[in-house]
Amino acid sequence: IVKAVDVTKRFGDFLALDKVNFEVRRGEVGCIIGPSGSGKSTLLRCLNLLERMDGGGIWVNDELIGYRRDGDKLYEISDADVARQRRRIGMVFQRFNLFPHMTALENIIEGPVHVLGEPPEKARAEAKRLLERVGLSDKQDHYPSALSGGQQQRVAIARAMGMRPDMILFDEPTSALDPELVSEVLDVMRDLATSGMTMIVVTHEMGFARNVADTVTFMEAGKVVETGPAAEVLGAPKNARTAEFIKAVQ
Ligand code: ATP
Ligand code: MG
Repeated sequence: IVKAVDVTKRFGDFLALDKVNFEVRRGEVGCIIGPSGSGKSTLLRCLNLLERMDGGGIWVNDELIGYRRDGDKLYEISDADVARQRRRIGMVFQRFNLFPHMTALENIIEGPVHVLGEPPEKARAEAKRLLERVGLSDKQDHYPSALSGGQQQRVAIARAMGMRPDMILFDEPTSALDPELVSEVLDVMRDLATSGMTMIVVTHEMGFARNVADTVTFMEAGKVVETGPAAEVLGAPKNARTAEFIKAVQ
C-alpha cells in the first residue's frame, strides 16, 4: 500500500533523507526506529505531503503522491490534489494537537463534516462510536485541557480514524506522556492494528514493536540501515548499528 523509493530530502546542504527505501503492505504495521535526528519524522512528513521531497517517489495504493509524471518529467500536483491525497492518510503526532476550543466529540466530528461533507448527525453518531472504541465515552463533552495526555492522545487517534483513512502515521505518539499513561495509548493502537488498519509508527517502545509490528525499519543519519520482519530485525539484527541501538533502548 505504501512504497517509498529512493526518497531524498535536503534542508539546505543537509541531507535529511538519503535514498530511503521503505514499504508497508495493506493491513500491516511498520515500525520505524532510530536515534534522534535520523530522519524518522521527516520520512513521515514526506509520506503525508507535509514536506516535499527532493528526489525519489512515494506511492500510496499505486498512486504516485505529490507529483504527476509526464514522460520522464515530474510535475508538482495542485494544492487541491495534495489535499485529496492527504485526506487518505491520518496522522497522530507526539504532541496532542487537538483543537483546544472544541470538546472531544467536536474534535472528531470536525473533519468528517467540514472536509468529507458528512451530515452532522451521522458524523456525531460515528464519533460517539469511536470514542467508545478508545474507551472515552464518558469524556465526550470535555475540552482537551480537561483531559490527561493519554486521553488526549486517544481522542487524537479517534479523530484520525474518523476520517476513514487508508492508513495512519504515528510520530512517537507516547513519548510525551507520563509513563503510567503510555500503555492506555499503546492498547488503543494495538486494537487498531488488530482491526486491520495499516499503520506506520515511529516509536521507541520496543515492546510494542516486538508484539504488534510486522516490520521494523532502523534509520540512522538519513539512511535506512536495516529493514525486515519485526522478529528478525529486533531478535537477530544483521547490522551491528541496529543491534547496538536496540540494546541501548531496551
Ligand atoms: P527525533 O527522534 O529527535 O524526533 P527524527 O529521526 O524524527 O528525530 P527528523 O526530525 O526527521 O529526525 O530530523 C532529521 C534531521 O533533519 C535533523 O538533523 C533535523 O535537524 C533536520 N531537520 C528536520 N526538519 C528540518 C527543517 N525544517 N529545516 C532544517 N533541518 C531540518
Ligand atoms: Mg522525530
